[in-house]
Amino acid sequence: MGFSAFRILKEGLTGNTGWRPHWRDPEPRADYDIVIIGGGGHGLATAFYLAKEHGLTNVAVLEKGYLGGGNVGRNTTIVRANYCLPGNSQFYSHSLKLWEGMEQELNFNTMMSQRGVINLFHSDGQRDHAARRGNAMAIQGDDAILLDRTQIRERLPFLDHDNGRFPIYGGLYHPRGGTARHDAVAWGYARAADSRGVDLIQNCEVTGIDIENGRVTGVQTTRGAIRARKVGIVVAGRSSQVAAMAGMRLPIESHVLQAFVTEGLKPCLDHVVTFGMGHFYISQSDKGGLVFGGDLDFYASYAARGNLPGAEHVMEAACTLMPSITKARVLRSWGGIMDMTPDGSPIIDHSGIEGLYLNCGWCYGGFKAVPGSGFSFAHLIATDSHHAPAARFRLDRFTTGRGLMDEEGTGAQHNLH
Ligand SMILES: Cc1cc2nc3c(=O)[nH]c(=O)nc-3n(C[C@H](O)[C@H](O)[C@H](O)COP(=O)(O)OP(=O)(O)OC[C@H]3O[C@@H](n4cnc5c(N)ncnc54)[C@H](O)[C@@H]3O)c2cc1C
Repeated sequence: MGFSAFRILKEGLTGNTGWRPHWRDPEPRADYDIVIIGGGGHGLATAFYLAKEHGLTNVAVLEKGYLGGGNVGRNTTIVRANYCLPGNSQFYSHSLKLWEGMEQELNFNTMMSQRGVINLFHSDGQRDHAARRGNAMAIQGDDAILLDRTQIRERLPFLDHDNGRFPIYGGLYHPRGGTARHDAVAWGYARAADSRGVDLIQNCEVTGIDIENGRVTGVQTTRGAIRARKVGIVVAGRSSQVAAMAGMRLPIESHVLQAFVTEGLKPCLDHVVTFGMGHFYISQSDKGGLVFGGDLDFYASYAARGNLPGAEHVMEAACTLMPSITKARVLRSWGGIMDMTPDGSPIIDHSGIEGLYLNCGWCYGGFKAVPGSGFSFAHLIATDSHHAPAARFRLDRFTTGRGLMDEEGTGAQHNLH
């Protein structure tokens, strides 16, 4: 089922009776070439690129709940390629290019809005760091513009520019960054993977991973055993639990990250804005709600909801940066489980068990990674070799210490990334 202006017109004139479900609801088969565990953004994108780039369609995605019910439907939708370190910058640069072609590639409106991301800075030292990051982005081929105090004032008039503690000195502007509709990204990949023959199986929890003589042979699920030559684990916040089914202990802690949205307001914020000193970020949704969030809740948890101290911290930061926000009512808040690695960078690698592959450790930044991660993970599973932009996301960097990518410079404490 394709979308086009003609199709929408035709359906509008014929009572919208021609639309069909976007994907099938197949029974799991006993055998697949490849099983992907996890029907979030990364799992669905992996299945799509396995089919599209490698012609592999005897593939099942097993999802314990419903497609897109995890973090891919819980995030604050920010897409960007403003990383600094080698390894990360190539990967996110590639991912952003895939975002830019995604709507055409999937024939689905993901509401990609390149409204620009601005990282504020509040001291001379932070300006130097922003300039360095901007140069790294430019060298990578991405876009970065250093804005001064006056330019920030013109673009973001509602902020408290002269805050006594954190006066705004300027910002690093990344015009190609922005937001996209998160559910639509999951639905678009699901629909496109299904149309190429991939089985998307919902309400199917993986409860065990079968390994014989050091090689994966399949999985146990709540809907029976499924054999597979290759298995990919792509379960975000649940990565440690699922990897433990294969006897692995991952360098990952799971923490909750909360987000908030206000009632709809008139347009007042044209960009995505981050306020590093308060650990706060904000954008305005197409419906008018201010969407914002902050730091992790500082305890490990598998509960997809946060606690009051985390909420209080975010609200304080919001009022500090944008005092007028105090007049808006918060409509909803929610949480998601983040798979935090010690260096804040992800893992796309072999597991050490033949035929078993890992994709995890996206911390709080995995939404923008969805297309790049799916592309690179599909490459790894299909060819058994690392895709160049993701080649540094190795698991063994946490045992050897070589190749760590500590983007935030916060050391090895999971919850500080
Ligand atoms: C509040 C919040 C704000 C965020 N903001 C941003 C942002 O602005 N920009 C950004 O880039 N990133 C952001 N993120 C991070 C981003 O959402 C995640 O890194 C990313 O979505 C994780 O990958 P995923 O989509 O595949 O995860 P998920 O959607 O969580 O997919 C994993 C799936 O695996 C399934 N699963 C788990 N265990 C099993 C099992 N045993 N068997 C079968 N299935 C299983 C789960 O049900 C789930 O559907 C945010 C996250 C949160 C919570």
